[in-house]
Amino acid sequence: MQHNITKTMPQTTPQVTLFSGENIPLEMHKVRMVQRINLLPVQERLAAMQAAGGNTFLLRNRDVYLDMLTDSGVNAMSEAQYAAMMMADDSYAGSETFYRLQAALQDFFGTEFFLPAHQGRACENILATAFVWPGSTTVMNYHFTTTKAHITRLGGSVVEVVKDEGMQTVSDDPFKGNFDLDKLAATVEAAGADNIAFVRIEAGTNLIGGQPVSLANMRAVSAFCREKGLLLVLDASLLADNLYFIKTREAECANRPLADIVKEMAALADITYFSARKLGCARGGGICTNRKDLYSKMRDLVPLFEGFLTYGGMSVREMEAMAVGIKETLDIHVISQTPQFVEALGSELMQAGVPVVTPFGGLGCHLDASRFVPHIPQEQYPAAALAAAVFIVSGIRGMERGTMSEQRNPDGSEHLAEMELVRLAVPKRVFTLSQMKFAADRVAWLHENAELIGGMEFEDEPPTLRFFLGRLRPIGDWQERLVQKFLEDMPSGL
Ligand SMILES: *Cc1c(COP(=O)(O)O)cnc(C)c1O
Repeated sequence: MQHNITKTMPQTTPQVTLFSGENIPLEMHKVRMVQRINLLPVQERLAAMQAAGGNTFLLRNRDVYLDMLTDSGVNAMSEAQYAAMMMADDSYAGSETFYRLQAALQDFFGTEFFLPAHQGRACENILATAFVWPGSTTVMNYHFTTTKAHITRLGGSVVEVVKDEGMQTVSDDPFKGNFDLDKLAATVEAAGADNIAFVRIEAGTNLIGGQPVSLANMRAVSAFCREKGLLLVLDASLLADNLYFIKTREAECANRPLADIVKEMAALADITYFSARKLGCARGGGICTNRKDLYSKMRDLVPLFEGFLTYGGMSVREMEAMAVGIKETLDIHVISQTPQFVEALGSELMQAGVPVVTPFGGLGCHLDASRFVPHIPQEQYPAAALAAAVFIVSGIRGMERGTMSEQRNPDGSEHLAEMELVRLAVPKRVFTLSQMKFAADRVAWLHENAELIGGMEFEDEPPTLRFFLGRLRPIGDWQERLVQKFLEDMPSGL
């Protein structure tokens, strides 16, 4: 089966200016299958939030109006992806599906070897098991939750060397995910190159607001690693957004085909891995490399942790969807939709005076809880409190990305996050502009009433990745008072 979407691939973004002068992100797709969703009245949303232990991860989806928790595994798939799923070759070993996916990845990244794994963190488990040792240091622009957990689980430590602007929630720096090259050099010098497990570039830096890394910066990091003999790993999970920003913000790439840019990025690294729950709008993951020695070092871990080498824990249907979705990443209309919707939502929020992370990144719109609820101390999880409040007033499920998402220090003390964010993720091609307007309106109302929001405390705190399953309770009755005020202003309760 051939999917020749790259042949007719447009190279310009679909941002259009209306006759009125307003810019809108025009959808370059139409909706052909829908899912009913519910908008519960505010008292029921309060009950649902409290039943979920104040943690948006523990809500039932039937109680959620807009699921803006994540872009992971919930992006809308294309008709070509669904069609490909029907043609999957089911077999434990040697399925044609594997070879089609391998060929798609060879073509996309320009790398020869491919190891399948069931999702991004499974790739991280394999990478960490193969390359991290107790006492070793892994250097990266910024950590991701699961990446760090796998490295520290094996006795390694993580050092972050993102440029200072990356930590500023308000900025006009187009590439806040960039490495600070001086910090990188100083870290390697201090640790000693022999003690570095690997250097990791995270494209579309997740936890600091989906902020991109420039191609120029990746080149510099790569040159440094080659000079010092360090292994360089690219986390390409959020590559689609990063690619859009390189294309639109990095002058030298404006006229360069997306396919070329991706190949260069992969060539700069020794290993590229990704979550296909994000990249390729399917579910799964993979590790790609051109180096036989590295492939051999990781290969036997796949049957141990994931499944046989030609499926790696994935369903063949998802692998077919992934092969097509990977190719569709080279369509600017596909990859521009999320960043442009993030910008549309972010601009509405900014106009209403709501503190958001700027410049707008990929992945979602990020509320800055430190400025939204400055009266809540970090020990009372301001971002978690804000995420709970957003759900209560809108039925929108966001994600806490602050202190609750950190792990405690080895001595049990709280590790305060450098940023207290609530992410309103914008999965690809899922929502409409009117839904974004609704989101902006309810969050703006909440901001006007932000002094009503109070803190949270743990009721049940798991020892690892506590943000997933931890349960919190509100300190005091602020949630009831918030509902009361909401009903005064919005008597319908919606
Ligand atoms: C989501 C994500 C991962 C982990 O992928 P999963 O498929 O959720 O396990 C790793 N790195 C980044 C940058 C991510 O966004």
